[in-house]
Amino acid sequence: MKNRSLLMIPGPVEFEPAVLAEMGSPTTSHLAPGFIEAFGQALEGMRQVFLCPEGQPFVIAGTGTLAMDSAGANLVEPGDRALVVNTGYFGDRFGMILERYGAQVTHVRAAIGDCPALEEVEKALSQVEYKLVTVTQVDTSTGVLVDIAALGKLARMYGVLLVVDGVCSLAGEELKMSEWGVDLTLTASQKAVGVPPGLALLMVSQHALESFKARRNPVLNYYADWNNWLPVMQAYEARKASYFATPAVNLVYALNVSLGLILAEGMEARIERHRKISRSCKAAIQALGLEQVPVRPEVAAHTMSAPRFPAGVNGPDFVTRVGRAGVTLARGLHPAIRSEYFRIGHMGSVNLGDILATIGAIEIALKECGYQFTAGAGLAAAAAAINE
Ligand code: PMP
Repeated sequence: MKNRSLLMIPGPVEFEPAVLAEMGSPTTSHLAPGFIEAFGQALEGMRQVFLCPEGQPFVIAGTGTLAMDSAGANLVEPGDRALVVNTGYFGDRFGMILERYGAQVTHVRAAIGDCPALEEVEKALSQVEYKLVTVTQVDTSTGVLVDIAALGKLARMYGVLLVVDGVCSLAGEELKMSEWGVDLTLTASQKAVGVPPGLALLMVSQHALESFKARRNPVLNYYADWNNWLPVMQAYEARKASYFATPAVNLVYALNVSLGLILAEGMEARIERHRKISRSCKAAIQALGLEQVPVRPEVAAHTMSAPRFPAGVNGPDFVTRVGRAGVTLARGLHPAIRSEYFRIGHMGSVNLGDILATIGAIEIALKECGYQFTAGAGLAAAAAAINE
């Protein structure tokens, strides 16, 4: 495919041919035996990928924002207090969603590129009684990774529900949902889960489901209401057809295939591959003399990188030139630093060859922009770091 551009943005990403083949297969009825089986298997596969054997999975046509909306609509009642551990743009979005459903929202923030200290979160939790805490495991606007295990311990200690936005992390970063005490993890299909955009995915702990069932007020969103979806998910898992709203048939077939590929690779091997790829990418960025938005390696995601432009390099021009060299990258997203950095997604089916192609294209563009560096320094560092 000589005109193909390698898609290296933080979602959507490149997808496996077997997954794409499902997208191009004839659409069946959502009541067809083959579809019922695929949906049932996908729900079972989700429990394994989310590492939550006792959780309740939901697969709903929509995007990651719908998954966030679904969490907010079903867990928040007017007047509830919610704490947002905020590391960027998607923390702000979660706050707005929770407020829309009547929550009183407090944000714990850090400087851009950092994540709030655990002591700050604990201080907030000790001052007021919160119903839930939300956190973005990897905020796609900053590339900051948060320590979910530590937050899980705090959430248990203070008896609050822990809701994790795993849109840019699930199936790429380590996330032991049950072991770490996470009550709800949500994601979307188009990132490390490896399926084209269009599915909102949630895993809800029994504890969070009990909290939902004890609601005093109706859910203020008809489409997202778990009362509508729970019977559907339970039916398909019991290999029976059911209907509330038409499932995204081809996407569900594709999800089942992708979950199968993820589980065949193995969760630990998959997380390790993402760590290696990330190490390689970040070593190259450093060797080229570029700074990164995350302020320390410990708070940097493994599913993406967020390099800052060197002085004198113009952002839009640079990203266009990388595109001409065959690789699609993303520009900045965080409003406060939008023009200062760019983003590389490296999750899902990504491999070392993709990183080398990306770094090669970045070197070509940097050279064209007049930036001074040793040609090949990024490529050499990427290759050297892969087996460190
Ligand atoms: N949360 C995070 C961390 C994301 O990266 C995104 C998408 N980039 C979303 C939520 C929203 O997902 P969607 O664009 O699929 O609605």
